[in-house]
Amino acid sequence: MDFDRDAAFPMKEKKHAVSKPIQLKETEKIDNPVKSATLEGTQRSVEFFLPYLIDKKIPTTFYFEARSANIFLDRNPEYLEKLNQSYFEFGIHGYDHEDFSGLETGLIFSEKDEYNIISEAKKKVESLLSKEVIGFRAPYMRKSVNTNRILESLGFVYDSSVYQESISSIFPYYETRNLVEFPVIKTPKNSKMNGMYTYLWPLFEGKRNLEDIISNYLELVRNSKDGVSYISVNLHSWHFAYNISKERYLTKGEIEENLKTFRKLITALENIKDVTFSTPELWLKEHDNVLVKS
Ligand SMILES: [Zn+2]
Repeated sequence: MDFDRDAAFPMKEKKHAVSKPIQLKETEKIDNPVKSATLEGTQRSVEFFLPYLIDKKIPTTFYFEARSANIFLDRNPEYLEKLNQSYFEFGIHGYDHEDFSGLETGLIFSEKDEYNIISEAKKKVESLLSKEVIGFRAPYMRKSVNTNRILESLGFVYDSSVYQESISSIFPYYETRNLVEFPVIKTPKNSKMNGMYTYLWPLFEGKRNLEDIISNYLELVRNSKDGVSYISVNLHSWHFAYNISKERYLTKGEIEENLKTFRKLITALENIKDVTFSTPELWLKEHDNVLVKS
């Protein structure tokens, strides 16, 4: 799960991302990295889905945007304890959801700048949650040419910011000497699964129906013959409670409906023999020996 400000979007010439609702309705706030982050959707989503994850003890990685983690935990200190579960792990998702590639903002970070941002984000999240952080997911799934080197020098062990086309589960691999990549699956356009990202974005935006998504996940599992490779289920912290195409926050009923949908997908996967829920950190502990060093 990417733990973001509500629907983080890049803006021209801005280092920080801007929440979609701010971009649409409170444009006077967009220059300020603190004020351009609103967390109403994340807040309401978390209230609904976190009890579910805890109840079912579902291994989950939270890739925290440091600013949002700070705002959220400052307002809701009781979540420190709720997040402190042995099956939860924490990663970094930028400080202000920076576009390190500069692709859409037109801003290129120097290596030193990017290093400082990721380093500060890591320090912030580690101090907030009192736990070492070793995973990274690039905001917008876009790294710069320097990101891997920076992650390595800051002691990150794994990254999960690369899409990989596949019709079955996949293997992590050494992206550099010491950094393991856990790619995110995208199914090929010309496959039965018709170009689906394992991000649940289209599901929450009503662009794909649940049956379609579940059958694609099941197909990915069916095509996988070994017991070691993995498929990630990817989503955003705010998406249960904010809809981008509708440009609005959702009602309690709609949020409950979204959670129900998500539960159906998890239940469908849970019901398959030989499918085990895990996280990159857990996976590495168990299967590190199958990775080939680069
Ligand atoms: Zn994000």
